[in-house]
Amino acid sequence: MKKRILITGGAGFIGSHLCKRLLEEGNEVISLDNYFTGSKQNIAPLLANPYFEAVRHDVTNPYFIEVDEIYNLACPASPIHYQFNAIKTIKTSVMGAINMLGLAKRLNVKILQASTSEIYGDPEIHPQTESYWGNVNPIGIRSCYDEGKRCAETLFMDYHRMNNVQIKIIRIFNTYGPNMHPNDGRVVSNFIIQALKNQDITLYGDGSQTRSFQYVDDLVDGMIKMMASPKDIIGPINIGNPNEFTIRELAQEIIKLTNSKSKIILLPLPSDDPKQRQPNIEAAKLALDWEPQIQLQEGLKKTIEYFKNL
Ligand code: NAD
Ligand code: UDP
Repeated sequence: MKKRILITGGAGFIGSHLCKRLLEEGNEVISLDNYFTGSKQNIAPLLANPYFEAVRHDVTNPYFIEVDEIYNLACPASPIHYQFNAIKTIKTSVMGAINMLGLAKRLNVKILQASTSEIYGDPEIHPQTESYWGNVNPIGIRSCYDEGKRCAETLFMDYHRMNNVQIKIIRIFNTYGPNMHPNDGRVVSNFIIQALKNQDITLYGDGSQTRSFQYVDDLVDGMIKMMASPKDIIGPINIGNPNEFTIRELAQEIIKLTNSKSKIILLPLPSDDPKQRQPNIEAAKLALDWEPQIQLQEGLKKTIEYFKNL
């Protein structure tokens, strides 16, 4: 059945892939975005579809519309961008959640929150399971994002407990792929662009910190499965690829895949940079019958092709 679906942050990296997939599945899609980090270019190929609408709107202000489902993604996700205006980042997470939860309550529809592995901060439990409460610095330079997202989870749970709103919370781990913002400073886009230009690869710290990278198509599958899951599955559920690499290994892999002449240089590690991160995805396997299908080399090749053509 054709559904009308609202996606906040629909012009962003992940949002644009989600809009495309939901349209392909025969739905009507409305993207709500203020284009802070997203771009019209990301959604330009979708504009020819009469069932797609792009609305310029800031989610810190209420928005009223009739829809069947809401995906709440609006929030800058890269450290450079979310630290650019830290107060605005918290407002987006918290007021955006309140406005969208209010809409879901009024319409009595499902709402999915794009939460994050940053909920776990610099984790003392490895790999991270959903039951872990996290180790977040509440006053550091990453707090505007981490604490904003933690507060959004609280709001989702309280709207569910108090008003019976049908919520779905996923905690997304580092995701990469086409449509990433070339200047947002995230590690995969930085390294690919540097490697393609034969420039120095900027490794922060000694490169021994780890991350687990998920290709965006796998994430979109997980998001759609979560939204379609039975009512009692509310999460939070980790969605990520448990394949863990050091950042140095990532740099070496990208140099190899691009045949680059780039050299690795070491720069200072930003403060509060988590030392390790790896999702435990048993809950997603069990509840959603989901696990990632695309491994690092294959995903990197597709992403490198995208940046080559930019
Ligand atoms: P992105 O920056 O590309 O997308 C965010 C989108 O939200 C952009 O289009 C931006 O313009 C829009 N936006 C920001 N503030 C807004 C506001 N006040 N009103 C309306 N629109 C606003 O980032 P992304 O990587 O696509 O992330 C999407 C969501 O997924 C975010 O909520 C992020 O926290 C979450 N997430 C992403 C990752 C990742 O690795 N990419 C990991 C964990 C969680
Ligand atoms: N990083 C790096 N060089 C870069 C960009 C990032 O070494 O040019 C490191 C960064 O310090 C962190 C990891 O790569 O340890 C992932 O950074 P990103 O900003 O992509 O994501 P997050 O820290 O939010 O997981």
